Formats: sequence, structure tokens, C-alpha cells
Amino acid sequence: EIKFAPSGDAAAEEALPPISPADRARALAESLPNIAALTGRTVVIKYGGAAMVTSPERTIRDVAALHALGLRPVLVHGGGPEINSWLAKVGIEPKFVNGLRVTDAATMEVVAMVLMGKVNKKIVATMGAAGVGAVGLSGVDGGLLQAVKVENEALGFVGEVVGVDETALEAALDAGLVPIVATVAADDDGNFLNINADTAAAAIAGALDADEFILMTDVPGLLRDVKDPGSLIREVDEEAAGKLIQDGVVAGGMVPKVTCCLSALHAGVSATHIIDGRRPHSLLEELFGPADAKQGTTIFRDATDSDSDADLD
Ligand code: ADP
Ligand code: MG
Repeated sequence: EIKFAPSGDAAAEEALPPISPADRARALAESLPNIAALTGRTVVIKYGGAAMVTSPERTIRDVAALHALGLRPVLVHGGGPEINSWLAKVGIEPKFVNGLRVTDAATMEVVAMVLMGKVNKKIVATMGAAGVGAVGLSGVDGGLLQAVKVENEALGFVGEVVGVDETALEAALDAGLVPIVATVAADDDGNFLNINADTAAAAIAGALDADEFILMTDVPGLLRDVKDPGSLIREVDEEAAGKLIQDGVVAGGMVPKVTCCLSALHAGVSATHIIDGRRPHSLLEELFGPADAKQGTTIFRDATDSDSDADLD
């Protein structure tokens, strides 16, 4: 279960060394050029999975800080360990086909309740406690995510995104609220479908023409050797990233992430990042830190990408 601590409950979070008021002021002052460059920019952040176990409230407050600094953040979230915990509580055995979770009707009910209910609203409340207004949405609300069942029938109520209506997101952003998106959608008949949060976030980033797309996960970034955290690939262009998938360097849950970054770039997003969501303040570090000290992976558009939608604008 995700243990959200009340705002400011430092004891429940990994303790960080104190910094002096002078260092605090200096860090803020020295970040000014990077903050100014991002003011008014739209940033779509995906947060979930294993990374959500480590101090989720700290990451949520970092997203609140982006809003306070004049950016337009959108937070797309997964369920973390909470879905498994509730499936266990109601006695539903997890089922897998070829390593992929089967979302049967009973599982979908729990996913819908946990994601759109408890997790989504807890994030909204945590942001509110940090002094920033947020609004919880799902793919169902305002037809935000249009989805159809995936071809693999065995997976059950799993959907793929076929369209995005960003009206509700734009309205929330224009009203000064941070949209918090749970990735459940409805099909044409009104059935709930579970959507991969990486994919949903990328589709949303594309629809919003976001400036930055950030995936927060439980590894330092894209690794040349998944067992060696020191093998981080700091920067890669579209072509090289595609090759890493072909060569099998990128596997498992990292495949949808890299694929998503590529589709977001194609849809016109300027830069995409895969960062370590367990690392304290990694989001602020990636966005506002010096360019030569970035800790995650940046996937950027090929200089010669002539078929990108962005070139058609
Ligand atoms: P999330 O819950 O954040 O979506 P996933 O487990 O779906 O996380 O995907 C991240 C995982 O992908 C990592 O924990 C790692 O085990 C795996 N992975 C496979 N190949 C790579 C790679 N080349 N670099 C980094 N991680 C990789
Ligand atoms: Mg995943």
C-alpha cells in the first residue's frame, strides 16, 4: 500500500541532510535562468509503479512546485503497489498470460476503484495540502482518452488509446489547476478499460504539444546493462533509441517507455526524459539543474527528422 504521509511529515520520508538558508537561497537564485526558460511551458509527467513506493508525497510536492514556478504540469499516474494490495484484500488471484497481467471483470472493478478513487484523490489532497490546487481526472472524464480493447483478447479489459480530447485538461490548466490523470478509459459501450500509464501519458503529451515529457521509474534511466546502474545512457536520439530496442538492450517495462518517448517526439513534444523516481527531487533536478549534470536519460528528436508532425505546424 502507498503510505502517503501528511504534508511536512519528514519522519515518514527518507531524511535528507539539512541545508543552510544561504544555500537554499543561492540554489534558487542560480536556477533562475532554467526556471525562466520553462515558465509557461507544459510538462507531462508519468509517475507510477515501483517508483511510487519511495516518498510519493515528496514527488507530488515537486510537481506542485512546478506549478508554483509558473509551469503547466500534468501528472499522469499509475497505481503503484496499491492495486495488488487491494486485489489481495478482496481475494482476487493475479493472473498472467505470457507475463502480461490479465484484467478480468473483477480485476477491472478493483483497478477502477483504486486508481480513480483512492490513489487519484490522495494525490489531489496531497497537492492541496502543499498549497496548490489540483483536479483529479481519468481517461473517462470529458472523453479525455478514447480507447479500444487491445487485440489480445486474453488480456481482458485492457485498452489502447486511439484518441485524446484535451478539452478538460486545457480547461483545468487555464483555471490554474494541476490536472492529475488516472489512466482508466471507457470504450464506446461504456465499459472501463485499463490503459498502460506510459502510453496514456505520451498520448496526452502529444495532444497538448507538451514541451517536456518525463517518465519517472525505478531505475536511473536507460541502461546499457540493466544490472549495472553505472551504465546509464545520458542522451540518445530517436534513431539510436529505436536501435536499442531492436538490439534487445531495452527490454521488459522499458520497451513501452522508450516507444512512448519516440511517439511523443513524433507528436511534437520537444524533449523526453526517463528519470529515477526514487531519487529525491529528481524531477526538479532534471528540469532545473545544469545541462551537464543531468542524472537521467534524455531522448531527443533527430536533427533531420523530416516526417515529424512538429515540422508540419
Ligand atoms: P514502471 O512501474 O515505472 O512502469 P517498469 O517495471 O514497467 O516500471 O519498467 C522499468 C523496468 O524496465 C526497470 O525496472 C528494468 O528492470 C527494466 N528494463 C529493461 N531493460 C532496461 C534498460 N535497458 N534500462 C533500464 N531498465 C530496463
Ligand atoms: Mg511499466
